[in-house]
Amino acid sequence: MMTQSREEWLDFLLNALPDHVFLLNEHGHYVDSFGGNYHSDSFDAKSYIGMHLSDVFSTSKAQELQRHIDRVIESQETLVVRYSVKLHDHILLPIEEIQQLEHPEESWFEAIIKFVDSSSENKQVMWSVRNVTKAHLLEKELKKLSETDELTGVLNRRAFINGLERDFNANSQNGHNLACLMVDIDHFKEINDLVGHLSGDAVIAQVAQICKGLIRSSDYIGRLGGEEFGIVLSNTNAIQAYDIAERIRQSITDTPCHVDGHTIHPTVSIGVAELNEDVSSVKSLLVEADKAMYYSKRTGRDQVTIYHSSLPDLKIQSPTKARILRAS
Ligand code: GH3
Ligand code: MG
Ligand code: MG
Repeated sequence: MMTQSREEWLDFLLNALPDHVFLLNEHGHYVDSFGGNYHSDSFDAKSYIGMHLSDVFSTSKAQELQRHIDRVIESQETLVVRYSVKLHDHILLPIEEIQQLEHPEESWFEAIIKFVDSSSENKQVMWSVRNVTKAHLLEKELKKLSETDELTGVLNRRAFINGLERDFNANSQNGHNLACLMVDIDHFKEINDLVGHLSGDAVIAQVAQICKGLIRSSDYIGRLGGEEFGIVLSNTNAIQAYDIAERIRQSITDTPCHVDGHTIHPTVSIGVAELNEDVSSVKSLLVEADKAMYYSKRTGRDQVTIYHSSLPDLKIQSPTKARILRAS
């Protein structure tokens, strides 16, 4: 019986590793390669040895990967990175290998990159990588679902507020304009009473789609409650936001909704508030937009109001609400 030397045994083990493990030097040359047969039986990563990242990947992808090597060599800390490789980034992978990929147009990889103290002048990293495309796409899909309002397809309340908080913090620092619209369908209880709750849902969905169709891709809309929406307009001051809100209001008024043999003519009341030095939080921006929206409601509906500090607070007006407040 042949006895294996320890070196042969280690070599066997390294090549049996399920993930690809590459040794790369600080300049981005492949020094060695092991394992990877979990992902493909036919692809021989040993053929990379001696090549440079830019022989394998497009220039921009090679530069991106080189930056990870630079970071690890500089910090000597282990880095976990997730990166995508698009079809045009593969310049060496044989067509049969590309065809074997489940999503050849864009694959996602997760790499653990570790500094290797080779005690030589030529510093190296160990790049252990696995294809995580399936998990990545699933995560993306789940994230989208968790952020989407099922009825209308626009953002749900949580995702909208998160987006607004992110933009609020960024814009407070860079001083860019940002405006927030609050949109509420008028007399919606009557619409529900007339056509029923399910058909009422169709009216809510139509209003959401009209709003979405009239804002730019950099803007976003979220459903904040039953028949109430928030819209964030980036790089927009209150006057410009008023024009967009007017266009939305007019379009909703001009677009009847046909549900279950009924023709509904929904209208909306809109409040506009802009981010300025007096607005200290997302909450106060939303409160201002809400106050302006209520002003639109109480002074006739189907109209747009811009918030300003002297706007009367008409929100608490009905005797019922006043009684509730007295009782608390
Ligand atoms: P206003 O003009 O003052 O806004 O009057 P309104 O009738 O629209 O009043 P309000 O905003 O207080 O009421 C909204 C109604 O929307 C109350 C609720 O029955 C209904 N609603 C809330 N969520 C949904 C939903 O998901 N689907 C449907 N069809 N109706 C909803
Ligand atoms: Mg309403
Ligand atoms: Mg409402």
